[in-house]
Amino acid sequence: MKEDCIFCRIANGLIPSTTLYEDDDFRVILDLNPASKGHALILPKRHSQDLCSLDDETAGKVLPLAGKLGTAMVKALGCDGFNLVQNNGEAAGQTVLHFHMHIIPRYANGPKIVAWKPGTVSKEEMAQIAEAVKAEL
Ligand code: AMP
Ligand code: ZN
Repeated sequence: MKEDCIFCRIANGLIPSTTLYEDDDFRVILDLNPASKGHALILPKRHSQDLCSLDDETAGKVLPLAGKLGTAMVKALGCDGFNLVQNNGEAAGQTVLHFHMHIIPRYANGPKIVAWKPGTVSKEEMAQIAEAVKAEL
């Protein structure tokens, strides 16, 4: 645990939170500034800044847990779906530098929360991008 990290402190119970779920590896809390009713955050108890530094074992538990929470939200809150959002880096909107996964319930006819304007790309540019990324894998 990183002493000066607010999500380490919340995940490990040093700062109170509205907790939906807890086990040895995770705490799931309600977001203080929700994008929709029920917006929750999956917080690993062990500190990692983002997805790139998250260990594989913890990473492998995040999606099943998100699915479990999403299923419970559909039943308990009556949402019609949910988005998983996970920001890496300030440019991507990450404001707290401790890995977390947002679970954002979505309601029919509710506002769009995760959306982008579809762009365009040439076949040549797609090929260049693919070659550049594949070379780093
Ligand atoms: P991100 O922009 O992906 O880093 O998301 C950080 C999220 O953490 C935001 O949705 C904040 O509203 C939420 N947040 C920040 N501090 C707290 C806190 N003390 N308790 C609950 N949620 C928090
Ligand atoms: Zn931390």
